[in-house]
Amino acid sequence: MSLLEELYRETIMQHAQRPHNFGPLEAPTVKVGGHNPSCGDRIELYLKVENGRIAEARFTGHGCAISQSSASMMTDLIRGRTLAEALELHRKFKAMVVEAEPPDPALGNLAALAGVAKLPARVKCATLAWNALEQAIEQVGEAL
Ligand code: ZN
Repeated sequence: MSLLEELYRETIMQHAQRPHNFGPLEAPTVKVGGHNPSCGDRIELYLKVENGRIAEARFTGHGCAISQSSASMMTDLIRGRTLAEALELHRKFKAMVVEAEPPDPALGNLAALAGVAKLPARVKCATLAWNALEQAIEQVGEAL
């Protein structure tokens, strides 16, 4: 294993063991659930949206290290972003894990999940939280 792969593994395990932004959000603007039956991962994503910006992002759920660390790092990254910026991050993350494109610098430590592109069975684990995010943004957009 290369040094970079070791660092990536360490990042994933740290977020999976002590996820950031874990726990429900009181009075969310939107709440979306996601389920990945092939691995048994579950996510509930809570967003508070104020003036078109994600003021708070939290999640609950359980599952494998990839699904939980992805949700942990995603909720860190999207806080304070506009909905359009969050959708752009969603696109960049999917390009990395689905199309195997090199990680965009805007994704920060989510680059740790770039190797998932080589593990087709785990792509749904990595994208679970991000698909919930896309759905949540669509729901908020419809309510405006
Ligand atoms: Zn999984």
